Amino acid sequence: MARDFYPDVQWIWMNGRLVEFDKATIHVMTHALHYGSGVFEGIRCYQTKRGGAVFRLPEHVERLFDSAKIYRMEIPLSREEFAGAVLDTIRANEFEACYIRPLVYRGYGPMGVNPLLSPIEISIAAWPWGRYLGEEADRGVEACVSSWRRSAPNSLPATAKATGNYLNAQLIKMEAISNGYSEGIGLDMQGDVSEGSGENLFLVQNGALITPNVASSLLSGITRDAVMTLAREIGIEVREERVPRGLLYTCDELFFTGTAVEITPIRSVDRIPVGKGRPGEVTRRLIAEFQQAVSGEDDDRHGWLTPVGVPVAREVS
Ligand code: PMP
Repeated sequence: MARDFYPDVQWIWMNGRLVEFDKATIHVMTHALHYGSGVFEGIRCYQTKRGGAVFRLPEHVERLFDSAKIYRMEIPLSREEFAGAVLDTIRANEFEACYIRPLVYRGYGPMGVNPLLSPIEISIAAWPWGRYLGEEADRGVEACVSSWRRSAPNSLPATAKATGNYLNAQLIKMEAISNGYSEGIGLDMQGDVSEGSGENLFLVQNGALITPNVASSLLSGITRDAVMTLAREIGIEVREERVPRGLLYTCDELFFTGTAVEITPIRSVDRIPVGKGRPGEVTRRLIAEFQQAVSGEDDDRHGWLTPVGVPVAREVS
């Protein structure tokens, strides 16, 4: 198998054991391939003074179990075992900084929409991953409002990080890229702002930090939560509320948050400059705070880092 995309990856965790990259394959009759029946996570491991450390690992594992619960998927591991498997995958590949992608999906079974007859399979891959929205991310990216709406909460629950949800995300992303933007912003069914195709959105207005609330068809991001915590700590007012589209064009600052994008400033929406068209003061301050938190320079005062080197307690089954 061509290793063009993942030259550094040696091992992938599959159903309880580490297998060589080339052997981490599945059958074409896998249920998830046909019907989008999978839930997953995106996690980052950062280089710190004391070696690699995973950012908010228990929270990511919890969200994965919540996503699985919505789709009636029983994960055959405890949360602690799952977290241990993530750490094992990083250690096996000897990565310090990397992105980790756990996936829980319906495997090979009798064809048909009913997912309950297909077994639950688990894989965990990890690879070094740089800037998700490219090197221009420091200056701020150009975004557009998508013509595609986010799915209604009573169609596909956005609070589950499910593979099928990313068909909507792909429509938003492809439209944005085809029209020369880096990213698209989805509106919810009421026409208010939801989120980007793979990231949450914040705006700064009169010194306050505002982000759409979870009722607006968005994934409750773990970076979003970290940014709200860090902002409150430095005395910034934070509000989760409905964000009308118009505010995207008139706010002072705008940025995306997410595990892959971290905090990425947005310099224009639909070619209309945000503020002065470059990253604003609040955004830059939060990027600095976030950087301190993920690198452990703040002595991990929130308890957000799990060192990769220290084995976690395993439950014996
Ligand atoms: N929204 C969507 C649709 C996403 O895919 C992601 C990335 N997981 C986020 C928001 C950001 O979530 P987090 O900060 O937990 O990575």
